Amino acid sequence: MDMKIDMVDLKGQYLRIKEEIDSGIREVIDSTAFINGPAVEKFRDSLGKYLGGCHVITCANGTDALQIALMALGLKPGDEVIVPAFTYVSSAEVIALLGLVPVMVDVDPDTFNVTAENIRKAITPLSKAIIPVHLFGQSCDMEPILELAREHSLYVIEDNAQAIGAEYTFSDGRKAGTGTMGTVGCTSFFPSKNLGCYGDGGAIFCNDANLAEKLAMIANHGQKMKYHHSVTGCNSRLDTIQAAVLNAKLPHLDEYSAARRTAAEYYTERLMELDPHEEFFVTPSRLRNSTHVYHQYTLKIRNGKRDALKEYLHGLGIPSMIYYPLPLNEQDAFKGIARAAEPLRVSRECAESVLSIPMHTELTREIQDVVIAGIGSFFRK
Ligand SMILES: *Cc1c(COP(=O)(O)O)cnc(C)c1O
Repeated sequence: MDMKIDMVDLKGQYLRIKEEIDSGIREVIDSTAFINGPAVEKFRDSLGKYLGGCHVITCANGTDALQIALMALGLKPGDEVIVPAFTYVSSAEVIALLGLVPVMVDVDPDTFNVTAENIRKAITPLSKAIIPVHLFGQSCDMEPILELAREHSLYVIEDNAQAIGAEYTFSDGRKAGTGTMGTVGCTSFFPSKNLGCYGDGGAIFCNDANLAEKLAMIANHGQKMKYHHSVTGCNSRLDTIQAAVLNAKLPHLDEYSAARRTAAEYYTERLMELDPHEEFFVTPSRLRNSTHVYHQYTLKIRNGKRDALKEYLHGLGIPSMIYYPLPLNEQDAFKGIARAAEPLRVSRECAESVLSIPMHTELTREIQDVVIAGIGSFFRK
């Protein structure tokens, strides 16, 4: 095959806005304002506006965002934080790091997202917070989760690292961006995320001005006034150069989401023609009340054929990835630390069957046709 296929195409995306990116970076270098330069504040403002007017605190990466959020809520060692088992490690890692107890729950087998039902089963008198993860690009069903959190006085920290730009609709018709519905929202600007910079970066969102101030203080050595430290904080900043990249990319985020959605719809249409009765695989399920920004396009492969399909596609030069091969409750790092209220069968089943295929803003029909044909020829063998 003469066509090179990648999981993500950051180079192609860069070349389309090269001038904007290059001049933004050049400006930072010329000004030498590498730390907390004007581009950082500009980005915080624009992102806050994009998200409908919430406070934005920038930080060094998405994992720090989650950690700072937990630090700001005044949790005590031994307090329990409920988190899905089928997610990236960060969501649970920060809980353990702070001496809190990750209580792992199962996800919905169709949307891969944590549900209020599963969270309810894990609530104990020690529960203090929930971390719903908007996995692969669509919102968790937040209305019942927020209701449950109110009922039990739990903080809600949304892990929005994969779903920035997605929108959830409440039953009364009100719409809200993912990351802006809970107590705090966290995101990552890791290069391959939907809004990615050219290194590490992260941000925290919240609607409460007092909490926003506390979050900003913790991200900045626990100080409001320089050299006066009122709480134990950390050093977590978004580099000015990264902010310049994000300032160039944020105005394109909705186009990027639309490009991903168009590509996803094409995959789904063609893949369903290949396998109309879902005998071989299942295409991504859509939550009725959320848009999807397709951070990943993730299939579930039936009949234990996932690894063989991955291998076969690899042989054809078609990359695919397993997000995630091992549920967090089965990771050594959490042995003796995490708890689960019940066996997490769905997370195990997902880990065994999921396969993400190339998804990015520069996908062409031509590339997609090669991927689809590859999958088709595997099942027709
Ligand atoms: C990427 C990611 C993070 C962490 O982001 P980093 O910037 O890499 O620290 C956290 N949660 C989820 C679900 C992610 O996908």
